[in-house]
Amino acid sequence: MNSQDIEKIVRDEIIKNILQSQEFLLVGNWKMNKTKQEVVAFLDEIVNHDFGDKNTVVIAPPSPFLYLFEDKLRYSKILYGVQNLFPKENGAYTGEISYAIAKDFGAKYAILGHSERRTLFYECDMFVSKKVRICVQNQIKPIVCIGEDLNQRKGNDYKPYLMHQIKEGLSRISGDELLNVIIAYEPIWAIGTGETASPEQVEETHMFLRQYLIEEYGNEIGKEIPLLYGGSVNKSNIRDLALAQNVSGFLIGGASLSAQTMIEMNNILSGK
Ligand code: PEP
Repeated sequence: MNSQDIEKIVRDEIIKNILQSQEFLLVGNWKMNKTKQEVVAFLDEIVNHDFGDKNTVVIAPPSPFLYLFEDKLRYSKILYGVQNLFPKENGAYTGEISYAIAKDFGAKYAILGHSERRTLFYECDMFVSKKVRICVQNQIKPIVCIGEDLNQRKGNDYKPYLMHQIKEGLSRISGDELLNVIIAYEPIWAIGTGETASPEQVEETHMFLRQYLIEEYGNEIGKEIPLLYGGSVNKSNIRDLALAQNVSGFLIGGASLSAQTMIEMNNILSGK
């Protein structure tokens, strides 16, 4: 064995130990995909799989499939959530679902302010902040998405924009309520494009976001808020991204549609 082989063995062992000691949150965002039959097949594939106790696995299917999740995952540790909700308990809001409906089906998480909702459905920070508030008040964990577009990244003025999105998105909650929030950093230029932010870019941005959270909300709260990364994450890049500092987990679109890929990504994040 030459020195390079030995170095690789040592490095792999260190990485395994790091991954085995860190808890990750793995959230699948299915967007507007899958048929009923495909959902049943996916759930049948994961329901008896042992994802271990370290990581938390969450899937956000299209809402009409929530009843299948409730039925199939009744005795499972896998959690699920919604991709959006309207910030009212009920009422004349055609086409929307409420936290109360989501909760009735056992949803524990809500993805809020995803860039697709912001750009395609004109959702603004104020609207997102109302959704965050109603979730926090009703024991649904909001996953608040933030992220810059390519022009902002190239122009190097994305950091004030990210700070603004966090400050506004969380403006209707305070104190310990903030401990129920999860932030997902999803650079728009990396979503569904196959172009991932590099581990260095993720580490740099997450470090900046962590500092901002501590400055804005104090050390006790700021250091605890989970920071997910999202943007073309898959089984080939998740290991390197997980080693970046201040990455608490991932929000995953395309790659979360395959049960096998979810299992493999969880294995990688378990140091297996
Ligand atoms: C997403 O939808 O939040 C996402 C990150 O998608 P993808 O992984 O497909 O880029």
